[in-house]
Amino acid sequence: MINDDDVVAVRAATNIVGVISQFVPLKRVGRRWVGLCPFHPEKSPSFSVNEDAGLYYCFGCQKKGDAITFLRDLEGLDFVGAVERLAAKANVSLRYTDADAGESRKRRHRLIDTMEQAVQWYHERLLTGVDAGPARGYLRSRGIGGAEVRQFRLGWAPNGWDELSKALHLSDVDLRDSGLGLVNRRGRQQDFFRGRILFPIFDPQGAPIGFGGRKLEGTDGPKYLNPGATAIYDKSKVLYGLSAAKADIVTVQEAIVCEGYTDVIGFFQAGMGRAVATCGTALTEDHVKLLTRFAKRLVLAFDADGAGQSAAERFHQWEQTYELDVVVAALPPGKDPGELAQTDPEALRSAVEHALPFLAFRLQRIYGAADLSTAEGRARAAGRALEVISAHPNPLVRDQYLLDVSSRCRIEVAQLRAQLERRGPGRSTEPRSTQSHPTAGPRTDHRRHEWRHRDRQDALDPDDGPAFDDLPRSPGATARHAIDLRTPQRRPAPSSAERDALRVAVERPDEAAEWLDEILFTEGPYRRAFTALCAWPTLQDCLDAIDDDDPEAAELLHQAAAEQSEATIGDVFLRLSQEAARRLLAELKQATLTADDPLALSAAMAHVAGLRTTLHSDDAGTETKLQAGTDLLAWLLDPGEGTR
Ligand code: ZN
Repeated sequence: MINDDDVVAVRAATNIVGVISQFVPLKRVGRRWVGLCPFHPEKSPSFSVNEDAGLYYCFGCQKKGDAITFLRDLEGLDFVGAVERLAAKANVSLRYTDADAGESRKRRHRLIDTMEQAVQWYHERLLTGVDAGPARGYLRSRGIGGAEVRQFRLGWAPNGWDELSKALHLSDVDLRDSGLGLVNRRGRQQDFFRGRILFPIFDPQGAPIGFGGRKLEGTDGPKYLNPGATAIYDKSKVLYGLSAAKADIVTVQEAIVCEGYTDVIGFFQAGMGRAVATCGTALTEDHVKLLTRFAKRLVLAFDADGAGQSAAERFHQWEQTYELDVVVAALPPGKDPGELAQTDPEALRSAVEHALPFLAFRLQRIYGAADLSTAEGRARAAGRALEVISAHPNPLVRDQYLLDVSSRCRIEVAQLRAQLERRGPGRSTEPRSTQSHPTAGPRTDHRRHEWRHRDRQDALDPDDGPAFDDLPRSPGATARHAIDLRTPQRRPAPSSAERDALRVAVERPDEAAEWLDEILFTEGPYRRAFTALCAWPTLQDCLDAIDDDDPEAAELLHQAAAEQSEATIGDVFLRLSQEAARRLLAELKQATLTADDPLALSAAMAHVAGLRTTLHSDDAGTETKLQAGTDLLAWLLDPGEGTR
């Protein structure tokens, strides 16, 4: 574990807006920053960041926390990993309390260090090595010059057996574990890459973790060489170019997915810095999951149709599971993006701009290849089209495309529907996809998540208006609201005065401490939240202390930090006092019914009633009202005071 003081130092040195805007474009609204929530799909923003408090809160899915939890949830890091990342950025050095736990981290760091040395060594070799001349020539012939070589830190692995191993003086273990080489039968170190142009691969945060190697024309071996998995590299989870493309992807919420290292570079050259590539493997669900952290739309810039029907079913499934749009850039036949970027960058841009939904793209291919001038040709095309359409899991989408097939192939749509159904309901219903796709799991989770979402909603006060006054409500909000009103309330709704008071207390704790007291709140989570807040020097300390013990109060504090109140402390104090006076009078009235000596209470009632009248009076000045509130508070803190 990391020393507590160091965690505090990292938090203090971190700007949460800086951290979050790497993933989500944020806009300043008043004293908060808002954006689209990266944790749930939405069209209008309900994600709020409080820069001063270092906290975020989503009013849609209730995700909340600080910069550390944000990185944990979004990047899949553990606590230590998230703190390390922030510490590196903030230049805070960390001390560890547990030597063992640090071991595997140290090993990872050592491997990344080793990779960094290798990237640099290979890179310099490409830039200046005499033997790298043919490699430079090849790259230039593909339109890749010095600027791109430097930006992507391309390298050259010389032909010798052990030049890197010798130059870096790596231990046998480091050489093997990093995937850079091996120890041969004669006990000598040997490089893995020889005579190849190297494309270093970085993790999403920019740490080097592996290489892809391309051979030169006219030499032996496979065109591309990828090392096997290492402790830091797994090609089914890694995307080439992501660390460089991340910022652009987040800005437009779109990623271009291609298949080659030079394709990524080509897209950069053509002004589309949002391209990534798989490293010698088909697109996996892990890749897609990784990309959905940054993008809501994927543009496939490879021959997606060539991957066949089962790949298509997977794409459609991912669209549904991750609420993602998958579209296909229609590249001229036989051209890869890297090539097109050199010969006709305008055509490349246009292909991306006019990308078609995946299903529409496949249908176009079918129509394009068919002879629609004959009855037989149209029937064949319709058959293929039905096959393709049946892969889509959404019946409404399927039906839309049937209309299209109907008009192009001149076949009654009813007949097409019947055909599609005859193709087997298996294709179009969920049980089969549950069996054949691992993706069914997360989708179920997502549903559960929506249920939870609804559960949480009805705990909120329906009369208190949208918590987020500045923002448009999401289209679903009204419908959810309607559901909320039909479900019974679990507990009395908190007053808006208490809510405002907590917002003010979070924002201006000194003022709140001076004016307010927990006794002005009704018993319940708002009072507990306020009490806890006053008991700790900072909001963060308070949340650390109660997050586990009193999640309800912690949730209210997170909400309060995400909202913003225009109310003044005086205003909040008066409203709390008015409510407290009303409650107190009701209690006193109740007490007189059972008291042995009702008269003894009447003086108290008269006193409180008088204060209440003043508190509500339109004629009394603010000073007078505040004084009445102060008197009431004094009475509450010491009942009987002033009436004895
Ligand atoms: Zn959310």
